[in-house]
Amino acid sequence: MNAEILAVGSELLLGQITNTNARFISNQLSELGINVYYHTVVGDNAQRLEQAISVAETRADLIIFSGGLGPTKDDLTKETIARHLGVSLEFDEIALTYIEQFFAKRGRPMTDNNRKQALILASSEVLANHHGMAPGMILTKDERTYILLPGPPKELEPMFQFEAKPKLSGMLNTGGVIASHVMRFYGIGEAELEVRVQDILDSQTNPTVAPLASDGEVTLRVTAKTETEQEAQQLIAAKVAEIQTLVGDYQYGSDDDSLASKTVEMLLDNKLTIAAAESLTAGLFQSELAEIPGVGDALVGGVVTYTEGAKIKQLGISKELLDTHGIVSSECAAAMASTVRKKFGTDIGIGLTGAAGPTAHDHQPVGTVWIGIAIGDEEPITYLLHLSGMRNTNRLRTVKFTCHYLMQLLEERGFTKRY
Ligand code: ATP
Repeated sequence: MNAEILAVGSELLLGQITNTNARFISNQLSELGINVYYHTVVGDNAQRLEQAISVAETRADLIIFSGGLGPTKDDLTKETIARHLGVSLEFDEIALTYIEQFFAKRGRPMTDNNRKQALILASSEVLANHHGMAPGMILTKDERTYILLPGPPKELEPMFQFEAKPKLSGMLNTGGVIASHVMRFYGIGEAELEVRVQDILDSQTNPTVAPLASDGEVTLRVTAKTETEQEAQQLIAAKVAEIQTLVGDYQYGSDDDSLASKTVEMLLDNKLTIAAAESLTAGLFQSELAEIPGVGDALVGGVVTYTEGAKIKQLGISKELLDTHGIVSSECAAAMASTVRKKFGTDIGIGLTGAAGPTAHDHQPVGTVWIGIAIGDEEPITYLLHLSGMRNTNRLRTVKFTCHYLMQLLEERGFTKRY
């Protein structure tokens, strides 16, 4: 099965939003072994949308639409498809009741155009929308399948995963199982990781191994297609073990893990507490950890010490140290880590200082960052980064590197880490 993703929305063409839906759907389709050869974007214009559908039909047997299912005039995806395919639109009673209840519950009047959202293509199957009002649809006509999904990612993603994907999987009629597992790496570039696992990438058949890089992280998705789930899991486990012998040192987690979630998990598993003094990240490290439920048993507190004065006043770092070594220095990061650890009485202290950009700071070029990590009464350990991103990318990378180095240090000291 070859697919084309057709995203509808003038906001996409105007550059106001990024087409993350296409990326999400492509990723999901690759798990099903469906090839995606084209991503198309078209504005809210019926004529151009119809042209795009005609073109897609010449090269894809699965066309997935994103957006344009809402109540307003410019939401014209299903009307255009209905006209193009010569099928009528009819009300879906379940969707209509859902929309009516939605308004009744909130005590808001329901306008006529809201009813429009319950219109579906005749003979299509409804894809329930549990996070919004407009239902999705799947329709097969003349051996071609059309899937219509709402634009907002928080509606589209669960709808695709839990409603459309199982139906597609059934249609592929492989009679088998497709399972996949994502390995997550940090501290190694995409190019280097690919070189190290090149033999595996070159010889892959089943399972397949697909690399993907984003936000400074690299992932490998291992996908197996077999008769039974058990067989698929065995194939995946063997391939994962093979990959780990080559690049296991850089793996921090799998599937939905994040560097922050693994860090918190490791702190909680080992009953460790942590505090942070942050300069360039101004609380981002603590904020990332705080996204993980249960972190309250590990994250005790912290301070944002942005200026030199704050470092002296809040942490008691000597002016002499700052004058001698500078604010963006190994010495400063170490002092921030050890003083914040003592201040909050924690097992671990983190000190982050650097020049996030866009201009140099403390005579240090943009992207120069020092990470200090103090564990117990040990001398703090510091790391130097030379980051090359924009300001906020550098701040986020600093947080990710901090999690990465902290987990490495803890593992070296015999603390347990789950894989
Ligand atoms: P609504 O009922 O919200 O109008 P809709 O199905 O009509 O939903 P659109 O109006 O096209 O969808 O888009 C609604 C919002 O969804 C957009 O403002 C945007 O935030 C998001 N969105 C739309 N298309 C995409 C896309 N391809 N990638 C990421 N986000 C998108």
